[in-house]
Amino acid sequence: MDKHKISVITGPREAKLFEVDIPEIKNNEVLVANKVCALCTSDYQLWMGTRDNIPYNVAFGHENAGVVVKVGADVKNVKEGDRVAFGVLGCGVCDDCRKGLNLKRCMNATSSHTAGNADGYHGPHGASQYKAVEGRKLFKVRDGVSLKHAAFLEPIATVVEGIERMRIKPNENILVVGAGTMGNLNAQVARKYGATVIVSEVSDKKLETLRKMGFKHLINSKKEDLKTRVNEILGGQQLDGIIVSVGATPVYRQVFEMAPKCCRILLFAANYPAPEWGMNIDPNLIHYNLWEIIGTYTASTFAFQQAMDLINKEDLNLDLLIDGEFDQDKLQEAFEAASTPDMFRVLLNI
Ligand SMILES: [Zn+2]
Ligand SMILES: [Zn+2]
Repeated sequence: MDKHKISVITGPREAKLFEVDIPEIKNNEVLVANKVCALCTSDYQLWMGTRDNIPYNVAFGHENAGVVVKVGADVKNVKEGDRVAFGVLGCGVCDDCRKGLNLKRCMNATSSHTAGNADGYHGPHGASQYKAVEGRKLFKVRDGVSLKHAAFLEPIATVVEGIERMRIKPNENILVVGAGTMGNLNAQVARKYGATVIVSEVSDKKLETLRKMGFKHLINSKKEDLKTRVNEILGGQQLDGIIVSVGATPVYRQVFEMAPKCCRILLFAANYPAPEWGMNIDPNLIHYNLWEIIGTYTASTFAFQQAMDLINKEDLNLDLLIDGEFDQDKLQEAFEAASTPDMFRVLLNI
């Protein structure tokens, strides 16, 4: 049997390639040759050893795109040679999937991070040379659209999911706190949904990236008082929503202190090690302020389709979010780069 190289995080600050058999496909599956995989925050935090929710060894990679090389007999939506990105979807047939709910409500969901694999390594295998996947989980990438952009499908889908859950409407005033890759994508998608977007961030580089993307209302919250600047920008109006895209106790505190009445607060970011809560929210505050505190994680099939449309129509600026590229055999170097503060996404070329 032919072999391929899989990328595996084996322990803190250690990632290696292993050679295993190329997976066999079932009738409803497709074999995809991965071409690009971005290193997600969750990947490099696992490599750094700061995540304790996923055990080693992990054949990581869930922000990937590639080319179809083999198609099972029952697959109708893609053919050999198609360029594709990967949806992380539920079973599609349980009651909750049919209601269009988030993947996390799927009654038959298994975690790709811990589910077993025929090659003996758990994990989604997106940074490996080949991946076998159910055909229905693939999204076609239009001709002329870069696979590097298509690799952003999963992160953009999670952003669309959050913004849908938050019900952003045109002309609403939305503050995004934190402008790393995910905060930046939140700002871009909120703008696409018609909101007036204000972004606060402490990194000059990240603010400058937003400026290049045409964002005007930018606040360096290390140098300026956030609430004062937000009030200046809004000229008497109030915030309709706040997207928290950085997970840290002082940020949560500041957000709840400044949230006006009827504000919707989206807790987008996770943070590891888990942030200390250390603050009591008086339920009366939520009651009298009519606050909505909204969690979000993963995405629905609908959000994946919306995200694929945004990528295929080239409606987002993704080039400025690619900060480095490495070949698959330079895994260690790629993780070193990805985990350097102030970096946007680092890509592996496979
Ligand atoms: Zn990710
Ligand atoms: Zn389901």
